[in-house]
Amino acid sequence: MKQRWVKRRELQQLLTDRTKCVVQHTGWACNTCFHAMKLVGVNENDLHAMWQATLVLRGDYKNGQYGIDMPDARLSAVVERLLKVLRRH
Ligand SMILES: [Zn+2]
Repeated sequence: MKQRWVKRRELQQLLTDRTKCVVQHTGWACNTCFHAMKLVGVNENDLHAMWQATLVLRGDYKNGQYGIDMPDARLSAVVERLLKVLRRH
């Protein structure tokens, strides 16, 4: 849980740097700005999965009720990949 929180803060910062959009919640990028990102090696489907994972991480869903079909392991992998890609830019 603590690890997830750390990644949440890093992800928020990286997305802010990248999109300059902070209109949602406590300063998170919106759907439009997120999906407008051009990330090397990331296709539309990947990007959408990354958006869903971002929603989970930033707390759009209550505990355990993600509202999306993504197991924890997949969620972690998607977040890791997104962080990795964003750190490179
Ligand atoms: Zn926006």
